[in-house]
Amino acid sequence: MFQFQARSVNSVALFVQKYGGTSVGSTERIKNVARRIAKFCAQGHELVVVVSAMSGETNRLIALAKEIQSNPDPRELDVMVSTGEQVTIALLAMALMELNIRAKSYTGAQVRILTNNAHTKARILKIDEDRIRADLKAGYVVVVAGFQGIDEANNITTLGRGGSDTTGVALAAALKADECQIYTDVNGIYTTDPRIVPEARRLKTITFEEMLEMASLGSKVLQIRSVEFAGKYRVKLRVLSSFEEEGDGTLITFEDDDNMEQAVISGIAFNRDEAKITILGVPDHPGIAYQILGPVADANIDVDMIIQNVSHDGTTDFSFTVNRGEFINTMNILRDKILPHIGARDVIGGDKIAKVSVVGVGMRSHAGIASKMFRVLAEEGINIQMITTSEIKISVVVDEKYMELAVRVLHKAFDLDQTL
Ligand code: ADP
Ligand code: ASP
Ligand code: MG
Repeated sequence: MFQFQARSVNSVALFVQKYGGTSVGSTERIKNVARRIAKFCAQGHELVVVVSAMSGETNRLIALAKEIQSNPDPRELDVMVSTGEQVTIALLAMALMELNIRAKSYTGAQVRILTNNAHTKARILKIDEDRIRADLKAGYVVVVAGFQGIDEANNITTLGRGGSDTTGVALAAALKADECQIYTDVNGIYTTDPRIVPEARRLKTITFEEMLEMASLGSKVLQIRSVEFAGKYRVKLRVLSSFEEEGDGTLITFEDDDNMEQAVISGIAFNRDEAKITILGVPDHPGIAYQILGPVADANIDVDMIIQNVSHDGTTDFSFTVNRGEFINTMNILRDKILPHIGARDVIGGDKIAKVSVVGVGMRSHAGIASKMFRVLAEEGINIQMITTSEIKISVVVDEKYMELAVRVLHKAFDLDQTL
């Protein structure tokens, strides 16, 4: 099999590169991205470039919509927010032309990135890559708008926040690119968000499974669907800085690759986006979990952690977490549709919680990680409200105000600090 050497100047490859919002945040920065692309072109590589909207633009557009409709119509919202990326593709193509590089931009719809019709969180179903291939053959750099597609009925759709990562990886999968390079404002995947823990350390590699957990547990450096795509189609995925000239960034590896970093814990993820709900005095009989969570699922609300206490006196308490944005809605559903039917005592909840998770494939072969985590938190007087585990992660819910402290002390306790 042809094995591409990432930094080799001699071998010619097809790269899909994605540049995020900060990296294209001004015309100066767009020119900088064009200069970087020019270097790859000079080495003879073929390039498909995916860009995000300029930083802050998607938020600005969403706020604009909310000035008109507090709960914007999803179809129209997609028509509007997809314009952010339409601006940057054209600007980047122009910047490339100024460097005498042939370039052409396409929106998601023009490529025909076919998605389902779930507006604002659509999934990519199919990519028509013929046009891109023809352009590459004709010597063009192809610039594609991230975060968007089109459904069967020709409605513009968007892929959820951070969705340009997914456009990049999906294009890399469709084109069988040699590597998908996600250029961002940090020079790789760190043991935790370096904005919260300055001692965080860049990882040379992280396994696909770990990255999937980190992304799903709140590390927004890669959108989770991009990681899913990379896993499914075995895309060689790398995260790098768009501001630094040198550096290998972080490569997402598969466990059967041989050059894995062997650490018990690879990283710590955290998430402030959740809210916790507890139903008190739930009659303990078969079917009760379904009676509670069925209507919640019917309302398209995703439930994350679930805890049911041991019953005494025939009743139990039932707790679960939902996305913070769904908190009020879920409480209303419970009060109006569920409590009266199941005969529970009350429903209480709060959105001042955070989830902190330690992640590492090494957990499979090391006992005592959970107890160490709980001891470290106890020593800081941090109360654990909920716990969930999987083979390679342990998550706890704590009071939001202790989140950063929890991340910092765990980072140190698990020897992740770069100074250690
Ligand atoms: P882009 O606009 O390029 O898509 P994002 O803001 O989506 O960039 O993602 C990059 C940010 O992700 C970083 O600035 C960093 O604060 C944050 N981040 C969170 N967790 C991590 C992590 N484990 N490693 C690196 N960055 C992380
Ligand atoms: N512009 C979109 C967002 O802000 C998509 C992306 O940047 O990946 O979420
Ligand atoms: Mg992003």
